[in-house]
Amino acid sequence: LRGVVAMDGPSGTGKSTVARRLAGALGAGYLDTGAMYRAITLAVLRAGVDPADSAAVLRVAEAADLHIGTDPRHASVHLGAEDVAAEIRGQRVTLAVSAVSAVPRVRDLLVARQRQIINEAGARLGGIVVEGRDIGTVVAPDAGLKVYLTASAAARAARRTAQDSAEGRKSTVDATLADVQRRDRLDSTRAVSPLRPAEDAVEVDTTELDITGVLDHLLAIVRD
Ligand code: C5P
Repeated sequence: LRGVVAMDGPSGTGKSTVARRLAGALGAGYLDTGAMYRAITLAVLRAGVDPADSAAVLRVAEAADLHIGTDPRHASVHLGAEDVAAEIRGQRVTLAVSAVSAVPRVRDLLVARQRQIINEAGARLGGIVVEGRDIGTVVAPDAGLKVYLTASAAARAARRTAQDSAEGRKSTVDATLADVQRRDRLDSTRAVSPLRPAEDAVEVDTTELDITGVLDHLLAIVRD
């Protein structure tokens, strides 16, 4: 693999699993940009800052000592020395992350970090699979392959609920459906870098496909 695979789409489309497994199969790095927005959101909440207060949110983002790994077999996210990988998936962070990620200067800061990580991984590993909402449109518009995953809201809510249960979090399909739809609306209507497919993205509807099917489809495209 040479270069970058951009993997965008709303939550619950199987994006993280597909991105990680694709990276593993290609011997490439993996970057979860959502985890970066989530870690900053956790720092904001811990500082007692209102996620709607953009100036204060930016100050927390600038001061945060965020470290994110790029090994697809071992996702790691730290604030300072503290492993926050589990806590950033909790409901408190999930409820606040769209507000934090709508702050333009927070995005500037994280997009710059993401490009740095992409360049380093490119030099070291030959390539990286990057997942998020704006990778194909903003972070890496020159990516060699852009993928946009979609699925029905019901399928996405069901997947998210199964994932919550597997990772020991309590949730119901109804509550998850409401959350998925709320975040989609916020993420796709914000003023900067809204969630949308890049013009040259390959769109894959995963409603009826299992992860292996999606992965085979993408591997065939990459290896073509
Ligand atoms: O992918 P995940 O659900 O972990 O992303 C959490 C949130 O981070 C999204 O709902 C979105 O608000 C934000 N995000 C973003 N841009 C990205 C990745 C995530 O705005 N590239």
